[in-house]
Amino acid sequence: MTQFLDKNFKLGILGGGQLGKMLCKETNEWSINTHILDKSTSFPSGRNATAFVEGDYNNYEDVLNFGRSMDVITIEIEHVNVDALEALEKEGKIVHPRPSALRIIKDKGLQKNFYAEHELPTSSYTLFESKAAIQKAVDAGEITIPFVQKSRTAGYDGKGVFVVDSADKLKNMMDCPSVVEDLVDIEKELAVIAVRNSEGEINTFPIVEMEFHPTANLVEFLLAPAEVDVLIEEKCKNLAIELVDKLDICGLLAVELFLTKSGTILINEVAPRPHNSGHHTIESCSSSQFEQHIRGILNMPLSDIVQLSPAVMVNLLGADGHTGEAIYPGFDTCISESNVYPHLYGKVQTKPFRKMGHITITDQDREMAKQKAKFVKDSIRVESK
Ligand code: ADP
Repeated sequence: MTQFLDKNFKLGILGGGQLGKMLCKETNEWSINTHILDKSTSFPSGRNATAFVEGDYNNYEDVLNFGRSMDVITIEIEHVNVDALEALEKEGKIVHPRPSALRIIKDKGLQKNFYAEHELPTSSYTLFESKAAIQKAVDAGEITIPFVQKSRTAGYDGKGVFVVDSADKLKNMMDCPSVVEDLVDIEKELAVIAVRNSEGEINTFPIVEMEFHPTANLVEFLLAPAEVDVLIEEKCKNLAIELVDKLDICGLLAVELFLTKSGTILINEVAPRPHNSGHHTIESCSSSQFEQHIRGILNMPLSDIVQLSPAVMVNLLGADGHTGEAIYPGFDTCISESNVYPHLYGKVQTKPFRKMGHITITDQDREMAKQKAKFVKDSIRVESK
């Protein structure tokens, strides 16, 4: 179980973005050799990994060659070459999340089918091959406006999501294999992160509430813990536990949920890796999501997870109208307050709405935390030189 303490042990991570960087920070604490595969050492985790291998995590050979010299392999992004991970698993490598689960999660259509097969609550949906096929179904009265079109494979941060709430929007639909689902009357967007190890031990983080940016489809404020009824909280946690178990995941599974206006909980989507909704755990919980992912994939005991303080997390997005080398006006003002924890990912170039960092604000009084978060958000900007 503690083979990772061996000086020759190597953990391999596919993806060198901010999640990889924060995972490396955690593995550094326990001196676990951590190797990253991604296109350029200039990426966020370039300076934090034990070794950085330049290559493409979507390329079969690159992933296979990288993985062959690792003891355990994990991911920080799900859009990787799953065939290579499957081959590595067949060769006896430990790969978490399991490639079979990753295959389902990478495709929003297969995710939806998985929920349906396991009778897990999610919005009603139909799968389509193309824009023309959706139009035909609309013309035949098989689906009705409003609905949400989601690209089955190409989406992230809301980019593959298109809301059709009037007939004139039909012409702007994406032309790709899609999930078409009911437009949910959302009261709150919630998320809960579960963790599991291969002994089958499962734990969950406190449930969080997300407020989205009105146009960018990215989380603007994240409140932890969420202000919801305990019964709702229990229900969300139980769904996450059921999902992590049924998908046979080791490590983290982040579950995004909708609380509808009528009080129903629906699963939106899952991610088998550290998640934006868990960044606050670094400062506000007894153990962070990154530490728990490492514990889960290396089959270590998970320990209890306690929220030590309410927290608000603010994503630092590139300002609209700014493209180029990033600067951070207002950084000084923002850190003049106590219990304000900025994380700058080190991305050299900013562009509108690019995730450039995040800031966590903790306070024993959640209203104070919210006020401080608003102050912080108004103080700092990510602009170009
Ligand atoms: P991504 O994988 O790109 O993050 P999501 O499926 O999470 O995409 O959708 C992004 C956002 O779009 C959600 O957080 C929510 O605000 C909105 N959304 C997604 N699906 C629905 C739906 N069925 N009904 C209403 N809003 C939705």
